[in-house]
Amino acid sequence: RHIGPQWAPTHPVAKAPVGTPPPTVDGFVKEFLHELNSNQGVSLSDSSVNDQYMALASTVRNYLMARWLETERGNRENPSKGVAYLSAEYLLGRQLGNNLLSSGLIDIAEEALKQCGIDFAVLRSQEVEPGLGNGGLGRLAACFIDSLATMSVPCIGYGIRYEYGIFRQTFVDGRQVEQPDSWLALGCPWEFAHPEHGVQVNFGGRTEKSTDEQGKEKTTWIPDWNVIGVPYNYMVPGYLNGRVNTLRLWSAQATKAFDLQIFNSGDYATAVRAQTFAENISKVLYPEDSTPQGKELRLQQQYFFVACSLHDYIHHVLPEGFDLHQLDERIIFQLNDTHPVIAVPELMRILVDEEGFGFEEAWEVTQRCFAYTCHTLLPEALEVWPVEMLGRLLPRHLELIYAINDHFLEQVRERYGNDEMRVRRMSIIAEHPERSVRMAYLATIAGSKVNGVAALHSQLLRDKVLPDFSEFWPEKFTNVTNGVTPRRFVRLANRSLSTLISDSIGKGWVNNLERLRELEPYAEDPDFRKAFREVKAGNKQRLSKLLADRDEIVLPEGHMLDVMVKRLHEYKRQSLKLLHLVTLYNEIIEGRLDPDTLQGRTMVFGAKAAPGYKMAKDTIHLINKVAEVVNADERVKGKLFIAFPANYNVTLAEKLIPAADLSEQISLAGMEASGTGNMKFALNGALTIGTDDGANVEIREHVGDEHFFLFGMTEPEVADLGAKGYDPGSYYESDPRLKGAIDLIASGAFSGGDRRTFEPIVSNLLTQDRFMALADYASYMDAQERVEAYYADEDAWTRSAILNVARSGYFSSDRSMKDYIREIWHTTPVL
Ligand code: PLP
Repeated sequence: RHIGPQWAPTHPVAKAPVGTPPPTVDGFVKEFLHELNSNQGVSLSDSSVNDQYMALASTVRNYLMARWLETERGNRENPSKGVAYLSAEYLLGRQLGNNLLSSGLIDIAEEALKQCGIDFAVLRSQEVEPGLGNGGLGRLAACFIDSLATMSVPCIGYGIRYEYGIFRQTFVDGRQVEQPDSWLALGCPWEFAHPEHGVQVNFGGRTEKSTDEQGKEKTTWIPDWNVIGVPYNYMVPGYLNGRVNTLRLWSAQATKAFDLQIFNSGDYATAVRAQTFAENISKVLYPEDSTPQGKELRLQQQYFFVACSLHDYIHHVLPEGFDLHQLDERIIFQLNDTHPVIAVPELMRILVDEEGFGFEEAWEVTQRCFAYTCHTLLPEALEVWPVEMLGRLLPRHLELIYAINDHFLEQVRERYGNDEMRVRRMSIIAEHPERSVRMAYLATIAGSKVNGVAALHSQLLRDKVLPDFSEFWPEKFTNVTNGVTPRRFVRLANRSLSTLISDSIGKGWVNNLERLRELEPYAEDPDFRKAFREVKAGNKQRLSKLLADRDEIVLPEGHMLDVMVKRLHEYKRQSLKLLHLVTLYNEIIEGRLDPDTLQGRTMVFGAKAAPGYKMAKDTIHLINKVAEVVNADERVKGKLFIAFPANYNVTLAEKLIPAADLSEQISLAGMEASGTGNMKFALNGALTIGTDDGANVEIREHVGDEHFFLFGMTEPEVADLGAKGYDPGSYYESDPRLKGAIDLIASGAFSGGDRRTFEPIVSNLLTQDRFMALADYASYMDAQERVEAYYADEDAWTRSAILNVARSGYFSSDRSMKDYIREIWHTTPVL
């Protein structure tokens, strides 16, 4: 009954540590029952689903443990340059399936559980995903650490163990209501706490200058208060290669010294409050995407996790006595957006104040040890901290930022003479509207490299966001197009497609995704196309069942599944999608469009709005209200259906994406840095309707124009229109279909006759429309008509869908990692 690993690895597998028996079903059953009894303290017959899930997780963990320890030993004994990925967010998704896949144990576990009378699927759905991120940025970090482990690159992911991750979204009368995400309530079997390795992190206070015996100036930071960061380690297993890297997330605890003082004063209540105050730092993820609010607690979180991480790396990972002048030979700290940028002055502080480096030599080392990834083009998304706040919380760091700035501006003056306008433009310190620290500038100045996340984005970053810097350091700027892990998003999420692919071209594609190219000839094979359609139909059925159970949504059968899932943001233009569907609805009920000429179409939305983002929340409300009306209207029955399951997260993405026919990637050109959802859809055989934005540009280049529905203005056209003066009202006046759709919303047709409910959305569209939905409307409607006609040709559509899969291998995060390694990190895999 021995079922070996399911997939033959394509590169050398690290030897299983001595004494590790090959996994067998019997062995797995034994281990599982042992865990159930001795860890959960229950017998099989008395165990709850949670007991069983915890025991299963522990069993898998035990199998990975020897490899984890082995990896650690290898890192210590044969150190080579590695990556410390600094990210305030990791949107991990559920761990069980991925860890089973990486250890080659899926089939064994399934069979073992069957023998115990347990349904594996039920246990998998017991896991609450750690939602420690907002969206694309956090999910990217999770894909990257998966790829690095798979490619045998030493990497530590550093981040924050938020007690509450991204909120759980519910709808009450169509409006978003946020619930706390208590993902730890039933315990998390994947983490290992190490309170004995707690790191003290200081805040506040002042600095003092002094001179030592040699006459050298010295600065001492005398902080006001501190907290302890407790590391929690998570396994990051490579795919069938025996390597297990580490993700280390920090949790804040009150320090003893801190509250003891207050306890001694007899004020018990204040002491307990102080404890809560300290622990607040890692309490909750800020549920924002793209628009930082400049809250002090957020800065505390950022400093907290990077201070812990740098300390941990220098004092626990590096061997004792390591010469920090050579730090860059061991590690590169990759800054995932500006959130961890305070690590730059923190490393300077360590080198100068603690290690006695001179400023210049510390700065040289620091510049070699950091690289910065920028994730945005929206000006409001570039993080700035008021000087007053930063100075109050981190007085020494502010001094160092000023020193770095002086040093840098001196170089600028040397190069350009006294071009004070330029100096002001490039200064880390902005003077208006209030004096503040521009974190993206600090990162750019400090980083050995600065990268954007798709070709177009990197170009715009150079030309529009940081033009002075790219002129100053042209060689510093580079591009690494984002990618997604095929393990989670194809192999695990789309098992039937994976089987079809493997049966056709072998199994090696899972960690060599370019091999999907070998599928191209199969697009011409009618039997393969039929099998491919069956896969899609099966995925739709599974999605239907899930949505029926999860959301009481009953999907119509046989529809095209048209999916727009991503954060709700004006720049992503869910409103444009709404205008498309309200137009179809309006044209049908007005008798101008014969519903019998339409394919049945189900439009699926999934989107969370930042709790303070009113326009985004209003848009969610409108989608839900349009859905209520449209879904109840007999005149469009069988033709139009709208589904908006609440709480879009990784777990739901894994079900939705494999079932989709059409992927909506419709941001205004020049606004979406990359997108990664777009890649996941293409890899799962959905066709994209999209603008020339972010990585859509590259997706279209790879899959071919005729297998992608392009619409909308290009980025230069958007810039021109903006410069000329954009008047959304003129589009409304001149396009009767558009006018009809907007008038229908304004009439109160979706709000029980109340014209005020959606007035803010309507007036925003007609008078501002910052992201030019109305300007792209006509082009979008045309593209949707092309979609409609193409979908009617089943064979042509399927052929295109297969070619999307075959030609999307480039979008593996393994390829992204190769690009980072070659262009930025200069690390080597450890085989
Ligand atoms: N949210 C979740 C749960 C995701 O899985 C993803 C990624 O693919 C995103 C957000 C990002 O989506 P997009 O790239 O479409 O903005």
